[in-house]
Amino acid sequence: MKDSNFLKENNGRLMWHPMTSPKDSIDNPPKIITGSKGVTITDIDGHSVVDGVGGLWNVNLGYSCQPVKDAMAAQLDKLPYYSTFRGTSNDVAIELSYELSEFFEPDGMARAFYTSGGSDSVESALRLARQYHKLRGEAGRTKFLSLKKGYHGTHIGGASVNGNANFRTAYEPLLPGCYHIPAPYTYRNPFNETDPETLAQLCVQALEDEIAFQGAGTIAAMIMEPILGAGGVIPPHKSFAPMVQDICNRHGILLITDEVITAYGRTGAWSGARLWGIQPDMMCTAKAITNGYFPFGALMLGHRVAEVFENNPDAKIGHGYTYSGHPVGAAAALACLKETKRLNVIENAAARGTQLFEGAQALMAKYDIIGDVRGGHGLMTALEMVSDRATKKPIDAATAQIVQDVTYENGAMVRISGPNLILSPPLVMTQDDATIILTAIEAGFAAATKG
Ligand code: PMP
Repeated sequence: MKDSNFLKENNGRLMWHPMTSPKDSIDNPPKIITGSKGVTITDIDGHSVVDGVGGLWNVNLGYSCQPVKDAMAAQLDKLPYYSTFRGTSNDVAIELSYELSEFFEPDGMARAFYTSGGSDSVESALRLARQYHKLRGEAGRTKFLSLKKGYHGTHIGGASVNGNANFRTAYEPLLPGCYHIPAPYTYRNPFNETDPETLAQLCVQALEDEIAFQGAGTIAAMIMEPILGAGGVIPPHKSFAPMVQDICNRHGILLITDEVITAYGRTGAWSGARLWGIQPDMMCTAKAITNGYFPFGALMLGHRVAEVFENNPDAKIGHGYTYSGHPVGAAAALACLKETKRLNVIENAAARGTQLFEGAQALMAKYDIIGDVRGGHGLMTALEMVSDRATKKPIDAATAQIVQDVTYENGAMVRISGPNLILSPPLVMTQDDATIILTAIEAGFAAATKG
């Protein structure tokens, strides 16, 4: 391996990073992570911190999950690759389909379609939603609805249903026929509504209005995250998702839950759909399906969708990936699922989630720089930072950077996304790990407040 100076010099010079500018990668060099153990990561300078980000919301079982590593290594020896395109399959992908259809059975899911990650799962859902309607003789249903602030990955379809301008503007024109509904975001919303239940009703009314305006017969699907993640951890009131499901059902619109973050236990429930007591038509999953150890995803399909495809001999799926059902990914996913269930991770996710959420609220009482704290459902927490609480003016990037840097110096990696400090640590972290994160972010806020 090259020495650390070589790596630092060549990072920004030769490698473009997602979600930042090439110039920023040079001006603000990233932490180069070279090692890990449990829930801790170590950088190239030997500094170790608790990973409050959990990789990228995906390393639910931490970095030392031996059963997953062993399963992947064994699979690499046995069959490192074979395709699942027409004419071939592989044993592990079939076994995984059996396990996943059982795992998501309470959510109404019946079949799996494999992908290489979250963006692929979203793209697959959007495409199959259109095909579903065509197969049923409703070819006019082509449009998509989604929530503002929602994040649905980076492919053109996913970017088109995304509800954040910074992932859209540079890539326009996007897919036509995508319309966005206000998110149930209590801290900032166009209705100036601060009561979560009333706000849920107002957003649902906006959804009804948009459907009436577009014409229900033109809409293929509504896609939404059960708890909005990258948009700043926005949990809706518990009445919201059931109302959305009801509206979609009444209008023949497929409901797709984007569970790339929320599936497999992060919310303290096994899926976002189960958290809210709904049964969508499709569920996009990825990330924690392999604990982040292999790029892999599964789009789960409900009975209603499955029947339409399976009862039509001409329903050819003209869509799929070289790595759909990749045997090493499937082996990782099988081992992950087994470990996730054995550890019953939802219990610890809920307990540690409460600890972080309450700890973050206590920090808000002390530091004016924190304008809002959101979470309360497992290990998804955001602290929204402001430069002025009264006007809710978002914090400037330089101050947010101080918070992140000082937090890191004090023992925790956190993610800064716009004005939000986001916490999404591994679901297996201990009470002490959560305390380290809280103590470290307090140091960050104290430093930023000092100015
Ligand atoms: N949907 C959601 C809800 C996500 O959070 C993400 C990733 N953060 C994606 C889709 C895209 O997943 P990927 O980055 O694996 O393509």
